[in-house]
Amino acid sequence: MSLKYKRIAVKIGSNVLTRADGKLDITRMSALVDQIAMLHSKGVELVLISSGAVASGRSILGINKKMDVVDQRQLFSSVGQAKLINHYWDLFREHGITVGQVLTTKENFSSRRHYLNQRNCMQVMLDNKVIPIVNENDTVSVTELMFTDNDELSGLIASMMDMQALIILSNVDGIFNGPPSEPTSEVIHEIKKGQDISDFIQSSKSSFGRGGMATKTSIARKIADEGIDVYIANGKKDNILPLLLDKKSLVVCTRFTASAENVSSVKKWIAHSEGFAKGEVVINENAAKALTGDQAVSLLPVGVISIHGEFEKDDIIRIKTEDGKFLGVGKVQYDSNHARELMGRKNVKPLVHCDYLYLE
Ligand code: GLU
Repeated sequence: MSLKYKRIAVKIGSNVLTRADGKLDITRMSALVDQIAMLHSKGVELVLISSGAVASGRSILGINKKMDVVDQRQLFSSVGQAKLINHYWDLFREHGITVGQVLTTKENFSSRRHYLNQRNCMQVMLDNKVIPIVNENDTVSVTELMFTDNDELSGLIASMMDMQALIILSNVDGIFNGPPSEPTSEVIHEIKKGQDISDFIQSSKSSFGRGGMATKTSIARKIADEGIDVYIANGKKDNILPLLLDKKSLVVCTRFTASAENVSSVKKWIAHSEGFAKGEVVINENAAKALTGDQAVSLLPVGVISIHGEFEKDDIIRIKTEDGKFLGVGKVQYDSNHARELMGRKNVKPLVHCDYLYLE
């Protein structure tokens, strides 16, 4: 077997890991662990992002009384995560593999320092042949600062760890060109850069089991644009991981082809930082034209019309046009007071250098 990638992130969704009665599907977990162990033995470096804590905790506690949703998530995840990691530990041990638990929150990605710290933690695990098993720390993460879901988290991890591929395993074969329940619907095998598939995603919103496809698709596109191949595939299919990674085999799934561009580490961090923006700048038409043109240009104070919010140098800001269109995010070279003083001025250092600019 000849493998396509040497460094991958694999995300396993809750519905792959749970049975219809809500309990953890140990048989499925065990099958996936066997597949991962096989790849690990072939020298593939792997980070696993696993959901299933909340679902597992819910089924263990079996609480019927009415409870606040945040309380539920905190309680269920505290119990379910312990159970989940325990199973992974035992299953991987059978293959002689050591795993480590990484529980994280969105805040841990908010500054460059936090981000590098997270990256170092996982890199040191990989260097020592320990497989990181990552999940959101649902027990402590507060609603406003939560990941949309583990798809978003897996995208951040794949990008941060410079993975060659991200594999998102769910309980469907991929993105369909119609409702998956209809016999005429087919899986879209490949989605290329710039290909618009929003029609398929929107038209299927009301159908069962498609709710998560919108985030999956937008995360997948963003990650593929950073040069990482993304696959959305069915984690319930036997041997799905080796099948996906074998150069020669063909398996039904949706692949987002990676862009050939080489994106720097700092740009990758900025690309995922919109949620941490401290302020916003509105720019004029000329500046917007320059930024969205073919050339890589910096955002200069001369093009800025207004500045909102207070920020420090090196914080992330959002960039908008006069008519309110969101253009992207960037890391600023001035604090907000200084930026206000320089607004509209020519021949001064850029507000956001092009190396620290991420445009949608
Ligand atoms: N972190 C959640 C869990 O482990 C899953 C979030 C999601 O559904 O993506 O249950």
